[in-house]
Amino acid sequence: MLIRKIAAAVFAVLALGGVQAVTAAPATAAPRILYYDASQAQEFKAVVDQGAQIWNNSVTNVRLLPVTAGRTPNIRIYADNGWPRTYSSSLGNGYWYMGRQAVNQGYNPPRISAHEFGHILGLPDRRTGLCADLMSGSSAPVSCTNANPNATEARTVNSRFASAVAVPPQVYAWQ
Ligand SMILES: [Zn+2]
Repeated sequence: MLIRKIAAAVFAVLALGGVQAVTAAPATAAPRILYYDASQAQEFKAVVDQGAQIWNNSVTNVRLLPVTAGRTPNIRIYADNGWPRTYSSSLGNGYWYMGRQAVNQGYNPPRISAHEFGHILGLPDRRTGLCADLMSGSSAPVSCTNANPNATEARTVNSRFASAVAVPPQVYAWQ
């Protein structure tokens, strides 16, 4: 507030003096790039890409990209017959499983994918039962097909990566 007042005062003085004030664009840091390896996601490779794309469309401070040859991925994705689950080691790093147990029960695969990526991006489970919440996970009805984070979830991820907040290792299970 004080800074804004000072800035306004400086601007006024400059304007009075006939000096053209150039407004600097706000400093925007480059997004943090996280590489993910879907090569072991079996039949879910496309849905893993879809989950990553959903986040890329929703946030600005972090980008999820397929890992390129010779680079160590931040995130690995596997598939098995258990519940989907995430093992996050720190903000932006870890691995997760696309679990057929949930897929076979009818849970929406893109929603599962985006949800598990959400854990890697620093969001905990919030079992609100609401389909509009991505991190409500399996507490929303099986029929829920919303795979997009809500505004609060997207904002939280942006702020976590803006300050590179420390996130301790966590394990999250779909159910
Ligand atoms: Zn979860």
